[in-house]
Amino acid sequence: MEKKNRIVMPAVPGKERKTNFRPFLPGYTETDVCAEASRCLNCRVPQCRQGCPVQNNIPEMMRLVREKDYAGAYEVLSQTTCMPDICGVICPHEKQCEGHCVRGRIDEPLAIGSVERFVGEWAQAHDLTPRKPGPSCGRSAACVGSGPASMACAEKLAEAGYAVTIYEAADYAGGVLTWGIPSYRLKTETVQAHLQRLQDLGVQLQLQTRIGRELSLEQLQKQYDAVFLGTGATVPRHMGIPGEDLAGIWLAQDFLSAVNLSGMDEQGRRSCPACGHHVMVVGGGNVAMDAARDAVRLAQVEDVTIVYRRTEKEMPAGQSELQHAQEEGVRFLTLHNPCAFHGENGQVTSAELCIMELGEPDSSGRRRPVDSGRAHEFLAVDTVILALGFDNDPALSRQNPALKADRWGALQVDEEGRTSLPDVYAGGDAVTGAATVVQAMRAGMRAAAAILKDRQ
Ligand SMILES: Cc1cc2nc3c(=O)[nH]c(=O)nc-3n(C[C@H](O)[C@H](O)[C@H](O)COP(=O)(O)OP(=O)(O)OC[C@H]3O[C@@H](n4cnc5c(N)ncnc54)[C@H](O)[C@@H]3O)c2cc1C
Repeated sequence: MEKKNRIVMPAVPGKERKTNFRPFLPGYTETDVCAEASRCLNCRVPQCRQGCPVQNNIPEMMRLVREKDYAGAYEVLSQTTCMPDICGVICPHEKQCEGHCVRGRIDEPLAIGSVERFVGEWAQAHDLTPRKPGPSCGRSAACVGSGPASMACAEKLAEAGYAVTIYEAADYAGGVLTWGIPSYRLKTETVQAHLQRLQDLGVQLQLQTRIGRELSLEQLQKQYDAVFLGTGATVPRHMGIPGEDLAGIWLAQDFLSAVNLSGMDEQGRRSCPACGHHVMVVGGGNVAMDAARDAVRLAQVEDVTIVYRRTEKEMPAGQSELQHAQEEGVRFLTLHNPCAFHGENGQVTSAELCIMELGEPDSSGRRRPVDSGRAHEFLAVDTVILALGFDNDPALSRQNPALKADRWGALQVDEEGRTSLPDVYAGGDAVTGAATVVQAMRAGMRAAAAILKDRQ
């Protein structure tokens, strides 16, 4: 078999792109996408499909792209996904479809995500995405939260003729897609187009309405035929170490929202006046990478260091996120872990770091970081961002004891998304804990299918 490496998408170089928040991976051209699709081996048992959480029919998409039948390729994708333009960009492809691609054993795996993105963006540009609600079926549904889980559920129900209202606690819609994932990774317009599409489908969007505060779940149950809970995992974890309450120490969610929701100027810059010059980010996941990459783009920031208690090998962040952060000048300090923050006049001035080493594997299969006992190090910082992960908010299950949740607050559902309450469904991070967009979308689509099935 002739070796043929994947078509590389030209990226804006790290030094240049770190001056702004504009997307730096432009997407494939038509020539590139056809050339890349022609690398598909059309395997008899397509492993890529097994690796995709929604089992997209990837070989058929590749075949149609090769024939330049992009509308046909979109049609194929639409059977399993309603967000190809989003998932094509931000799914951890190397762990999913591309990680299973047989071509990877010969030279390099197919760039499946980039082809999916092309098809999704082509469909959006050619107005192929559904924009009209189905004929009314006389039923109604409420979706709680407006992240990808609720967006997918609302879209499928509106297409089936349901009158759908989304209730969102924040004053903007989109969940993590809006406040968390920065615009240089996922175009703001892409998320906006999905939200606009929901409105075109007749979905009502009620912002600043927290269910459990402004309205109760019981009220929604009385008012609607079905309720979907897509409330995400929104409670940030803390370190529980001395000095954590000093000024200059941020939770990643607050920092990312402050930066990502600030307006972009003509040069593509955003601002965050409260951020200092010397930034430390604690954590090794996607959230830590996004926080560090946001910080490195702010005009006043001189240096950004990610501090992580294991080694790069154990980092949960995707390989490409790590590489992109390094290209942009983010420094990595692995096998270090803060044990205290110190300050002057209430403002953080340094982090005290334990030197770690790896012990036996823990329940996650990764080697557990343990304090080596060596002398602590000190890092001068004026800003610290804690990106330690999120837990579920137990508020709704506490208020409604018949709504079953596990001891971490994650809602319990059957395999189609039904909760323990009649006519109440749930999905996304609210059920799985912090996970991925594609899993949230799949859960929203699956719950919509169950809602329709239960009311036939
Ligand atoms: C910074 C960051 C980067 C990430 N990067 C990636 C990535 O690259 N790829 C990937 O696949 N995944 C990524 N993820 C994970 C992914 O974004 C989530 O798994 C996904 O958004 C979950 O979708 P969801 O709809 O379940 O919840 P969310 O997107 O969290 O949306 C939940 C919504 O519900 C609202 N809400 C909560 N409670 C209530 C209530 N009581 N009443 C009304 N509204 C309520 C919240 O305000 C929020 O808007 C990232 C996450 C973060 C934080």
